[in-house]
Amino acid sequence: MDYEAYFASELDGVREEGRYRVFTDIKRHRGKFPHATRFVEEGTQAVTVWCSNDYLGMGQHPTVIEAMHDCLDECGAGAGGTRNISGTNHYHVELEAELADLHGKEAALLFTSGYVSNWAGLGTLASKIPGCVVFSDALNHASMIEGIRHSRAPYKIWKHNDPEDLDRMLSEFGPEVPKLVAFESVYSMDGDIAPIAEILDVCEKHGAMSYIDEVHAVGLYGPRGGGIAEREGLMDRITVIEGTLGKAFGVMGGYIAASSNLVDFVRSFASGFIFSTALPPAVAAGAAASIRHLKASDEERDAQKDRVRQVRRKLDIMGIPHLDNPSHIIPVMVGDAHKCKRISDWLMDNHGIYVQPINYPTVPVGTERLRLTPSPVHSDGDIDALITALSEIWSQCELARMATAA
Ligand SMILES: *Cc1c(COP(=O)(O)O)cnc(C)c1O
Repeated sequence: MDYEAYFASELDGVREEGRYRVFTDIKRHRGKFPHATRFVEEGTQAVTVWCSNDYLGMGQHPTVIEAMHDCLDECGAGAGGTRNISGTNHYHVELEAELADLHGKEAALLFTSGYVSNWAGLGTLASKIPGCVVFSDALNHASMIEGIRHSRAPYKIWKHNDPEDLDRMLSEFGPEVPKLVAFESVYSMDGDIAPIAEILDVCEKHGAMSYIDEVHAVGLYGPRGGGIAEREGLMDRITVIEGTLGKAFGVMGGYIAASSNLVDFVRSFASGFIFSTALPPAVAAGAAASIRHLKASDEERDAQKDRVRQVRRKLDIMGIPHLDNPSHIIPVMVGDAHKCKRISDWLMDNHGIYVQPINYPTVPVGTERLRLTPSPVHSDGDIDALITALSEIWSQCELARMATAA
């Protein structure tokens, strides 16, 4: 086989479908985010990032950075091993205690990313509980889907955010069948939020375990940043809460929080946990500092809500269509893959505004969009520049506007 020719022709196919990914090469500057420098062939360009998942700017928070510097100087660069073989640093242990406390659970377990925590967490539970059947929300993240598939357990996909459909599916299985229901709280592309209480009612009725991905909610919602389940007083009813340290917490890593026995079970059987080097201690120290800060401070959450409101209000004034949702994610709807890419390129080239176009297969064809994530670090000036530029391109591309807000 001509391997090189095969790779090249497959890539051509991706390009023809308009799905080829070109990464934007930037340097974020500590203290200046969302402002960054973009690297292009001709040189560099100053840009404002509008599509980051560093939702609260914690990636540059002085407390987080100081904790990381101190730990790096104290402990050195890497963990030096898997958790079982010399790699458990005291900073990991402290971080796991912080996470268990955040979610009101007995224990928590760290992974190298949120992706791995879902893949290994769901994969281990579904494969190691004999006869387990998984019930997965139709819009679950790739990491959950891969974990479920990898488990080889039978699975059913229930209609997105539809507890009645879930109820019907669970009813097909007797009380003796172990069941695992997997869903998210805030869905990242539409920014909609699951009816968690209703889903838990259904889970409890059928004796099913519940597994929630709060990746887009931890740090952001609830009085201590414990997520939507904390805000709604539901954490104690959920079997497993999964989250990331890489989005609102601004660092890197993933975790699950649950009962001591469940966490010990995953710790003891999950290949993706056991056979992988532990996170660098400085990363754990930074994440713990970020979590501690956000447990005590509403300042960042309040400022983010204000920024989100401002952007929505100004989009409304200009009649630029965006999905109405109860979260911090603002999907500006374009509805055409080529236009979406063109708008994104134009914003970058002419205004230094960086918003990644979101096209198929990440979202359904016809719902192509720009996903805006306003954060406390976006100034009024940044917002005005964004809205003015969007309005200009909206006219140029002859895109439909909504009736403008009174
Ligand atoms: C980003 C994401 C993950 C993965 O988290 P990482 O820490 O980035 O690996 C898991 N679930 C959802 C819904 C996500 O959007």
